Amino acid sequence: MIDDFLFKGIPTRVLFGTGTIGWAGDEVARLGAGRALVLSTPNQVADAERLAADLGDLAAGVFSGATMHTPTDVTETALDTARAAGADCVVSLGGGSTVGLGKAMSIRTGMPHLAIPTTYAGSEMTDILGETKDGEKTTRRDPAIRPATVIYDVSLTLGLPADMTVTSALNAAAHAVEALYAPDANPVLGQMAGEGLRAIHDGVPRVIANPADPEGRREVLYGAWLCSTVLGQAEMGLHHKLCHVLGGSFDMPHAQTHAILLPHTAGFNAPAARQQLAPAMAVFGDDLGGALWDFAKSAGAPLALSDFGFTENDIPRAAEIATRNRYANPRAFREAEIAALLNAAVQGNRPQTI
Ligand code: NAD
Repeated sequence: MIDDFLFKGIPTRVLFGTGTIGWAGDEVARLGAGRALVLSTPNQVADAERLAADLGDLAAGVFSGATMHTPTDVTETALDTARAAGADCVVSLGGGSTVGLGKAMSIRTGMPHLAIPTTYAGSEMTDILGETKDGEKTTRRDPAIRPATVIYDVSLTLGLPADMTVTSALNAAAHAVEALYAPDANPVLGQMAGEGLRAIHDGVPRVIANPADPEGRREVLYGAWLCSTVLGQAEMGLHHKLCHVLGGSFDMPHAQTHAILLPHTAGFNAPAARQQLAPAMAVFGDDLGGALWDFAKSAGAPLALSDFGFTENDIPRAAEIATRNRYANPRAFREAEIAALLNAAVQGNRPQTI
């Protein structure tokens, strides 16, 4: 039976392929802009400078100070750079941190934003912006936050380090798993989430075996696009909430936290959402939590939160924060259940079969 649904549409223009970064100049011009400020982290400044050189007269310069969790003081500095350079558009080249800076600048100024993602985190297809001020992270949604155009270029992902490849791909998978049971799920998102999970499942082992395998990389980036598209269209539940708590209040690293928690949150929710999660079970296995943990382990992903500094002592406060506000989730929970889930993730245990 087809339930009633709302499909909001996908407004972002997307180019996907290999060598597609070569289209950046045409896309900047298509946005009606003529002076693009290229954004990156310090790690990727050489790539940003190469892109600026390729853009030629269309480039206003490079700002390479993008930082995880989008601190507002970094955004202010980047805006000063943009003003001084006479920029009329931003081009973010990098992972979620750099795309986040592009969003923060674009929403403040109205400058169009072209995003060129180089991880699988998925910020580029969403209307979500998380920013940090005085040590506090707040998140908001607004259609104007979405980049106007996204260029996916497989060649930019060939050098993504192995640990980041696995955790970032699991970060993407988490978007799809939660979209399947989201209250605003719809048939199109369901198809995209299932196909995104399949591509991640098939592509990751190939990339682990050979990080520069262009076909494996293509598969994972395609999956990441689908997963980020559903993240940008659906309400997220317990998994994203817990990751937000651990990132915001315990300074845990983004992709690794997603990777470690996904088997536990999926295993917890599976009994209450078997029908919705059927596409994920078809890809990974019926015991979804255990199967995702096995997949993560075989790909070399970290399994224990304690490896990143989150310990048993942190569990009570994290469980309290995570249960403070109500939000959509297929299975109801109280503090004690969240504490048990976190305890298994702290230890790195395989989720119990339920
Ligand atoms: P990141 O952007 O911080 O990147 C991690 C490191 O890897 C950086 O030093 C970066 O320069 C480097 N890197 C990226 N791509 C590379 C490549 N191809 N080769 C070599 N090095 C590369 O990490 P992330 O996980 O992509 O993003 C995390 C941030 O994104 C968090 O702040 C998170 O909150 C945000 N995020 C936001 C959304 C959203 O919808 N708003 C969605 C997902 C993530």
